[in-house]
Amino acid sequence: MTPGVRPLVAGNWKMNGLAGSLAEIDAMRRAADAGESGSAELLVCPPATLIAQAAWRIKGGELSLGAQDCAPEPSGAFTGDISAAMLKDAGAAYVIVGHSERRTVHHETDGLVRAKAEAALKAGLTPIVCVGETQAEREAGQQAVVVLRQLRGSLPAEATSETVVVAYEPVWAIGTGLTATPKDIAAVHNGIRALLVDMYGARCGKIRLLYGGSVKPGNCSEILPLDNVDGALIGGASLKATEFLAIAAAYR
Ligand code: PEP
Repeated sequence: MTPGVRPLVAGNWKMNGLAGSLAEIDAMRRAADAGESGSAELLVCPPATLIAQAAWRIKGGELSLGAQDCAPEPSGAFTGDISAAMLKDAGAAYVIVGHSERRTVHHETDGLVRAKAEAALKAGLTPIVCVGETQAEREAGQQAVVVLRQLRGSLPAEATSETVVVAYEPVWAIGTGLTATPKDIAAVHNGIRALLVDMYGARCGKIRLLYGGSVKPGNCSEILPLDNVDGALIGGASLKATEFLAIAAAYR
């Protein structure tokens, strides 16, 4: 945790969820309204198809809503793409950019991720900029080099602690059940914090740094209290409100 920073517990539903899943969002909203996530902000990022409906259901409550990706362009002939302004209009407040599944499956580069983050900022959304090394990079001891290079290339120039969130997600830990050791997580998060201060000075000194990669109720108590870990980005364990809330309860 970073003193003076409100933690963020964020759920990434990926390509999961139909209208019936909105009941999970209702349960998350009730828990957020009842203060069950303690000091932490609770955020859910369902697929884009559910954002408008979810926005109606959480209106006036404490649960935050986000999307999983946005186009770098504001509008135009980009069939199938969704702009940041459209997501904002539908009710989102956050958008994940540069998730490793987008970087790998859709070949997104740091430059494209930065353009998406800038588009998000222009539309009034908070980008959650994801970075993380692959297994081969970790085995070569390159995690710090890779993560810091991705950050330099992906973060918008106008980033501030209030407007941008960073998520460190080792690729080999996503959806695998593997997690980095607390020592490894702390080392990378400390490195990210130092780089942010070096790049931007005090205005980014309190950017929220999330850890992601198989975070579950059973391991969150070892990860969330670490220095410079200001919350988590959670995939599989965010699909069911009970599991997601069991993680957020660490902040009570
Ligand atoms: C993610 O999707 O960002 C993620 C961390 O997934 P999981 O928690 O399932 O590893």
